[in-house]
Amino acid sequence: MTSTEPVSEKTPSQPAAEVDVLVVGAGITGIYQLYRAREAGFSALLLEAGDGVGGTWYWNRYPGARFDSESYTYAYLFSRELFEEWEWHEHFAEQPEIERYLNHVVDRFDLRHHMRFGAKVTSATWDEPSGRWTVVDSHGNEVRARFFVAATGVLSVPHFPEVPGREEFKGESYHTGLWPAEPVDFTGKRVAVIGTGSSGVQIIPVIAEKAAALTVYQRSANWCTPLNNAPITPEEQAQLRADFEAICRTLRSSPSGFLHVANERAAFDDSDEQRRAFFEEMWQSPGFSKLTSNYNDLLFDEAANAAWCDFLASKIRAIVKDPATADTLIPKDHRFGEKRPPFVTAYFEVYNEPHVHIVDLRETPIERVTERGIETADGLREFDIIVWATGFDFGTGALRRMGIEGRDGLALVDHWADGPTTFLGIQTTGFPNFFFPGGPHAAAGNNPRYNGDQVDFVTEILLHLRATGYDVIEVEPAAEEKWTAMVDRWATKAPSFGESSYYFGTNIPGKPRKYLLNSAGRPKLLAEIAKVYETDYASFRVARSMEAVSSG
Ligand code: NAP
Repeated sequence: MTSTEPVSEKTPSQPAAEVDVLVVGAGITGIYQLYRAREAGFSALLLEAGDGVGGTWYWNRYPGARFDSESYTYAYLFSRELFEEWEWHEHFAEQPEIERYLNHVVDRFDLRHHMRFGAKVTSATWDEPSGRWTVVDSHGNEVRARFFVAATGVLSVPHFPEVPGREEFKGESYHTGLWPAEPVDFTGKRVAVIGTGSSGVQIIPVIAEKAAALTVYQRSANWCTPLNNAPITPEEQAQLRADFEAICRTLRSSPSGFLHVANERAAFDDSDEQRRAFFEEMWQSPGFSKLTSNYNDLLFDEAANAAWCDFLASKIRAIVKDPATADTLIPKDHRFGEKRPPFVTAYFEVYNEPHVHIVDLRETPIERVTERGIETADGLREFDIIVWATGFDFGTGALRRMGIEGRDGLALVDHWADGPTTFLGIQTTGFPNFFFPGGPHAAAGNNPRYNGDQVDFVTEILLHLRATGYDVIEVEPAAEEKWTAMVDRWATKAPSFGESSYYFGTNIPGKPRKYLLNSAGRPKLLAEIAKVYETDYASFRVARSMEAVSSG
């Protein structure tokens, strides 16, 4: 496989390029895919819609945005030198540090030269005779590639709800997932935040510090628990370095991709007093360990879950002084873990501030946005700034917007009209040589870990083709059906996410209600990948393109 070397620049007009591997998206998954493709000796180019690297960590640069997985468990593990030379400052790094890290990786491994920024893909078309994809960006630049890898992520298309008058507001308006590069000044301003998911609850305390008045519009309360972030001490830095191999071993084998130790006890193995003490320990524990190290029946036994929720409700009541406000902040419609739980820093405390108010949209829904503010049944509140923390078209949002057409002009949007069908969350029938690691149906947990497994798998597929002399690969329909049926079956089982979760796409009007993660998780993904190797790729059909056949 040979090709001309691409030239990386941020200029709108580019020479037509021809590469072995075209990657779309400079997020964690895309950067790693570019690295692996280059390392394996393929010519490769990466197109990125933004003006810099980071993907979701580029666009979500709102104040307060930070990891809620431990920094060193989210970061790359493919290079010991990289792991040792990069010192995270905090156990849960903030967005600017994350962006710096990803830029460091790109430069450290000389990848920038193979990236084009400001290049949003508008169409991608499979050409059967040549066995290649033609991908066009928003400037009309064309790239021809043998393999097309969309690493466009699951959280890359921000969702604005259809609220009447949204465009009429004359003040400043922002979405957390499309935050501007230049800082937004909240000082002395009247600010509204709509949405209290993971993004909303991260930005709210930061805005509260500066704003003259902050009004939070909450439709559903969430089970927020403390992130318990801290700086990484020099001793901890040294320990992390010393433990590199053990960390890799644990993260490679962890079902959810965390270092947290699983609990062998069930909630009612303990006395009431022991359980209370354990819940207190969990409350003080870092990030996701409240899910991964909690009682082992927390997500399976209703009584165990209810005991934990009662504990959390008592914590919220103890922090928030006004009982009515505390009550508004306590979820009534879902159990802990049924939705993706947010992790917070001084979140509930802000509601004790006299300039912070919460509006319960279940009682007084938004009627319209006007030029000056937001109107509910209670009347109009005026604002200088409205922040939309209203989530994303999760899972398939980006893939459905890229104009992808496979064999015989089959559009991906039509193929997936009833929801995605995939094999291992990397390929779909009718779209040869097209891969989408980091997309729907992969696993659930600490994303970079299982998305990295997918990138490794895609790279192995490319190496397999090169070794066997084939240049076209497509998943067998039976394998895709089986994987998709497994995803759907697991979606209804505990500890799957509840039906109200955006993981089913229900937050987007008209989107088919289909599960977009894989609750069987990473062990199932890895077992199935191992099976592909054992069966010599029996789940795929391989071929030689007509062009390859005719050229001998
Ligand atoms: P989200 O979890 O989907 O939350 C969206 C919020 O907007 C919800 O509170 C939702 O209410 C509300 N909303 C939506 N439409 C509305 C409407 N028409 N009127 C009023 N409220 C409306 O989105 P997100 O907070 O951006 O988080 C998405 C995901 O990104 C997270 O689950 C997480 O996976 C990831 N994330 C990660 C981090 C991190 O790692 N540190 C930080 C932020 C986000 P309902 O609940 O009632 O629908």
